[in-house]
Amino acid sequence: MELIVLGSGTSVFHPHRAAAGFWLQTNAGSILLDCSADAPHRMAEENLDWINLDAIWISHLHLDHCAGLAPFLFGIKWAKGNGNRRQPLKIFGCQGIEKLLKAIDECHRYQLFEQPLTIEIHEINPSDKVGSFDLLPGLQVETVSTPHRAESLAIRLTDSDGLMLVYTSDTGYSEDIAQFARNADLLILECSFYRNKPTLKHLELADAMRIAQIAQPKELLLTHLYSEWDGIDLELEARKLWPGKTTAARDGRRLNIKRTG
Ligand SMILES: [Zn+2]
Ligand SMILES: [Zn+2]
Repeated sequence: MELIVLGSGTSVFHPHRAAAGFWLQTNAGSILLDCSADAPHRMAEENLDWINLDAIWISHLHLDHCAGLAPFLFGIKWAKGNGNRRQPLKIFGCQGIEKLLKAIDECHRYQLFEQPLTIEIHEINPSDKVGSFDLLPGLQVETVSTPHRAESLAIRLTDSDGLMLVYTSDTGYSEDIAQFARNADLLILECSFYRNKPTLKHLELADAMRIAQIAQPKELLLTHLYSEWDGIDLELEARKLWPGKTTAARDGRRLNIKRTG
């Protein structure tokens, strides 16, 4: 698997950090994890094959995680070469995605769903005990509710080689989330604040490192960074609290996820 950070930032604009989006290349296909308003442009900027993107995961309905979805569908509708793809575009994630897209669609008759490609939407009820299912053939997925919004979900993806990636998206502190992420090859965890967080619905560094302590991922990628992180050596601060490998997300960073040891 390869992960490309499209946006390491938040809903508050930052000169070097776009809002949430991660391109994940797997042996089963490509997946966009969250689609902020910045994400479609960032995919083009990174020269990614967005026209053949296989699936999109939306963790929750805060606009820094989903506001690029309608523009992405509108862009792909008018893109050259869109008729060459044979596979559907699968949109997976929280409840409310379809309602949001239809509301935008209807207010100006954008005809977002009238495409040369098929669009499939699968919404997951956070209270359902969801077993594992295949997001793409051979790519297994499980989800769990996070203490952030009623609809918000974390996702765990396991490919056919057994490589495991967990993306929490926005979350408050939760031991359930830490257990869900146990032994991940890569854990993408939010770390909105350095300290003195103003809300229980996000993490600060000490919370994130408590989760890492329990989860023991092979690598931890901290993201969703507000500007209060500017000028702070996040990786150095993280190492003081957990000895494992912590990487600070920055836009354009590419991580190779492979079996170690
Ligand atoms: Zn957010
Ligand atoms: Zn949020």
